[in-house]
Order: sequence, then C-alpha cells, then structure tokens
Amino acid sequence: MSSNPRLPVLFSAHGSPMNALGHTPFAERLMHWGRSLPRPTAILVVSAHWESAVLRVGAASQPATLHDFFGFPPALFELHYPAPGQPELAARIQTLLSGAGFDAALDARRGLDHGVWAILRFLYPEHDVPVVPLSLLHTRAFDQHLELGRALAPLRDEGVLIVGSGNVVHNLRRADLHARDLPVAPWAGEFDAWVRTQLDDHAHATLADFTARAPHGPLAHPTPEHYAPLLVACGAAGPEAQVQHVYEGFEHASLSMRCVQFD
Ligand code: ZN
Repeated sequence: MSSNPRLPVLFSAHGSPMNALGHTPFAERLMHWGRSLPRPTAILVVSAHWESAVLRVGAASQPATLHDFFGFPPALFELHYPAPGQPELAARIQTLLSGAGFDAALDARRGLDHGVWAILRFLYPEHDVPVVPLSLLHTRAFDQHLELGRALAPLRDEGVLIVGSGNVVHNLRRADLHARDLPVAPWAGEFDAWVRTQLDDHAHATLADFTARAPHGPLAHPTPEHYAPLLVACGAAGPEAQVQHVYEGFEHASLSMRCVQFD
C-alpha cells in the first residue's frame, strides 16, 4: 500500500522556446503554480516534442537537456535542467503500458526536450525531482491517447506527477512569432473556448474527436502533437476530476497558453 496522497494531473502550455528565458506573466504563473503543488516523488512528462510509432519511455539515470530548436538566441542554448531520471519508474511505466495493451520500449539515451524542461524550470526550479519522459504515439487515433492516460493513472497514487506539455491551439504558420502580445485571432479564441467548455463538462471523448466536432479543428492543429498531451492528461485525470484553469491567454496571436490542473 502506498502512503502517498493522490497527485493532480497537469496540462501545461509551453509555446515558443523563448518562454524558457522567463520574465513573462506566463513564467511567473508557472512558478506560482509549482509552489502550490504537493512535492512529487517523480515527474512523468508527455511532451509534444517526442512522438514515436511505438511508445518509448526515457530510462536515463541522468537525462541530458535537449536543445531541440533552431534559430534562437545563444542564451537559450545555455539553459540546462539537470534533474535526475528514475530508471525504476521507467520500468514501472513500461509494465503499466504493456498491461493496458501498449507496446513500450525503454530508451536509456533519451534526454529532456524543451517541451519538458522549458516548463519544469519554472514549476520545479531546483531540478531536484526525478523526471521521466514518455513519448506520444504517432497516430491520429486520438482516443488512444485517452487510453494511454488511463493506463498511467495508478502512478498518481504512487507519488508521481503526470504532466502533459503542449498547446491547446498550435499552428505556427498562423502565429506571428515576432510579437508576443497581439490581438487574439478569432478562430483561435473560438477553438480554445470550445476546449475549455469540453474540459469543464468532462467530455473527453468529444475532445478526442476534435477534428470533426470543434470549430476550426484543422486550423488549430494542422498536426496534432501539441494537442495529444491534453488527451493523455484527461485520460490520467479521469471523468470525475475537478478542473481548474490555472492560466488562460494567448501569445503570438494564436498560440493558446491555457494551463489546466485536474484534481
Ligand atoms: Zn512545442
């Protein structure tokens, strides 16, 4: 039996890698959010920036910081997030996933992509909690990401904080990356509001069917990798969870920075 209290599940936006440099209202909010959370024994992050045909679980004991972006200032490449890994947790995740019918491989070489460290450096700035990354499935069968989250849910009672890292609206071709504070594109606002309503209604199957049912679904996500982590979080949270919108807002006209806590 575990004596750990059940941990919440988080969905965090990350947006442009430039956010990792901090000094924004969003970064301030993440720091405040981190201080409000119980201290986990480990953090499992499902990031938009790691997709694979077969699930992969990061099993490095000291995962490297990956600077998986180009054309940004040198200051971003100097940032490191030297949290330890936790190979035993990676093995436990692999067991849970195979029990739910997912093939999953351990990857002892995988580091932390910027979808992981650009938020954890504000949520847990001391980088003293072990971090295990898990890939997304490269699929458009979105209900599989709900199932993936359900398979991970037992970890919440084992002291593990499950975090999805993406963006509720993410279309870089329709974002103006040269200016952060711009009027919100109406289509992006409509899609983001639709997601908020579905989250509040615990309509997870509807969220998974967003390409057919949401306003401007294909425009909000020409590719789905920044949306899928939200579905993983919903699956791990379950239909009874209380939903708290920790941060709302947009950057670059259409990049939703919505962050959600499921208790
Ligand atoms: Zn991203």
